[in-house]
This record gives sequence, C-alpha cells and structure tokens, in this order.
Amino acid sequence: MIIAHTLSELHSALGASSKRVFVPTMGNLHAGHLQLIRQAKALCQQPNELTVASIFVNRLQFAPHEDFDQYPRTFDNDCELLRATGCDVVFAPNETLMYPQAQTYTVHPPAELADLWEGHFRPGFFTGVCTVVMKLFHMVNPSTAIFGKKDFQQWKVLEQMVRQMAMPIEILGCPIERSKDGLALSSRNGYLSETQKLQALALQGQLRAVAQFVKAKERGFKAQSKLGMDALNANGWRVDYLAVCQQSDLQEVDLWGAEDLVILAAATLGSTRLIDNIEVQLTERTLTL
Ligand code: AMP
Repeated sequence: MIIAHTLSELHSALGASSKRVFVPTMGNLHAGHLQLIRQAKALCQQPNELTVASIFVNRLQFAPHEDFDQYPRTFDNDCELLRATGCDVVFAPNETLMYPQAQTYTVHPPAELADLWEGHFRPGFFTGVCTVVMKLFHMVNPSTAIFGKKDFQQWKVLEQMVRQMAMPIEILGCPIERSKDGLALSSRNGYLSETQKLQALALQGQLRAVAQFVKAKERGFKAQSKLGMDALNANGWRVDYLAVCQQSDLQEVDLWGAEDLVILAAATLGSTRLIDNIEVQLTERTLTL
C-alpha cells in the first residue's frame, strides 16, 4: 500500500491505472469505512485497477461551534486497517495542499435537496462536503467513488452533483455497518460513554418502530414520526429530525406513493450528535386495504 501526501506522490502511485475506485474519508476508521474499502476492492480485479482511500478532516464542512479540533485523528492506525483490508493507495493531503488559499470558490448544492434535514441543522455543511469532494475527485480522477448510506443525504447530494456537472464518475452507496446490537458505526460514537452507547440504541429503535408502522399503514407517517421524536426527547435526547422521506428527493411524505422511502433521523445525546436511517422498499409494503 502506498501512502501519498503530495500530488506528485499521488500521481506516481496512481500511475497508468485503468480504473480507480475511490473512498473519501475523514479517518478514525472503523468497520463501516472498511466495508466501503471491501466494496471498492471487489470492483478492482485486475492488477492495474486500484482501490484508493483518502484521509482528510475537512475544515470546510464543520461549523465554528462543531468538533473540528476535537475530531479524532488516528492516522497510523487508519493506515494499518487500510493495509490489512487490501487498500492500494492512501491519499492523505495536509491542510495546505487542500486549501493553499482561502477557498472562495465553492460548490453550492441546490437548496431543495441540500437545505433539508442535515443541511437545515448544519448550514453550509453540504457546501463544505461538495467542495472538498469535487477537489478530491480532480486530484484522484476516479472512475467510481463509494459513499456510505449512513450519510444518506450526503450520498444523494454527491450523486446529483456528479450527474449535473457531467463528471464521468460512477457513484455507489454502501449499506450501513452496525455494531451487533444495532448502533450505526460512527467515528463520533467514540465520544459516547458506555452508558450512552446503550442509550444510543434508542435512535435505531425509534427508526425501526416508524419503519414497522410505514410497512403496515397507508398513511399517517408524520404523526408517527412525531411520536418517535417525542419519545426520544422525553428520554434525554434532543432530536433535530425524524422523518419519512422519498428516497429520490428526500421530501417528507405522510403517505406512501409509488416509490421507495427512507426514514432519516438526527439527534443529540449528551454532547454527541448522531445520525441514522432505515430504507423501506416498496416491495416491503403490506397492503391493509
Ligand atoms: P467519514 O469519515 O465520517 O467522512 O465517512 C467516510 C465514509 O464512510 C462516508 O461515505 C460515510 O458515509 C461512510 N461511513 C461512515 N460510517 C459508516 C457506517 N457505519 N456504515 C457505512 N458507511 C459508513
């Protein structure tokens, strides 16, 4: 595995590869990230097809009150995990390489998708994400990039960016990796105490309860989501949103129309903000008429 810190190191590592499957990360890797690497590796069967990961904590996507300075940086351990998983190239640019001057040119995703949910509660977040991912794409020049469906809205926003900007990159989503008791793996889980880790299972619990309701009922999804939010708020959480949405445009729905749904949630426990979601496919719907 080659570790590249500069563009010339990156370009010589990429060489004349015919295919690059890229997994951008902010490091502090866990089994969720490694699933993305495994999915990438499965697409790279020939010797000149490379799995590339990046590690860069992107200041641009953190609001001033968020945890940029505190965000865990575990570079050596990350490289060990990537090596053991069979990653070919790690690109780890420093701040000066990514942002040699103030980043005044930025990528603004459309409000109707990016000002919803995460974008509403984290203004500027998706601009920061799109800007860094666009820059990483220019540097790595991947044929495919893989993003986790844990950040479902981020995956959708980036998929649309690539399509609308006619970037010749295939965007794939990777299923959410969870602990055996169901907690979605996240670098931010490290901020939770052992007691909070148990409490944190309630977020997935409420998502599942809403998913069961959605599968069994024709309508009334908003009221059911509100019940889920109330239950969490009554148990020490501060819920930002819990909503049943169409997968295509992430608009909230109260009844099931003709497409697959996703139930999105974000809530803070103590001082740790967690996000999670559950997809519900049209084929899972039980008609009660
Ligand atoms: P991050 O380092 O948090 O920016 O995450 C890098 C990539 O890993 C993103 O595409 C995330 O959606 C993905 N990811 C993080 N946690 C998980 C998880 N538990 N399951 C699947 N993908 C994940």
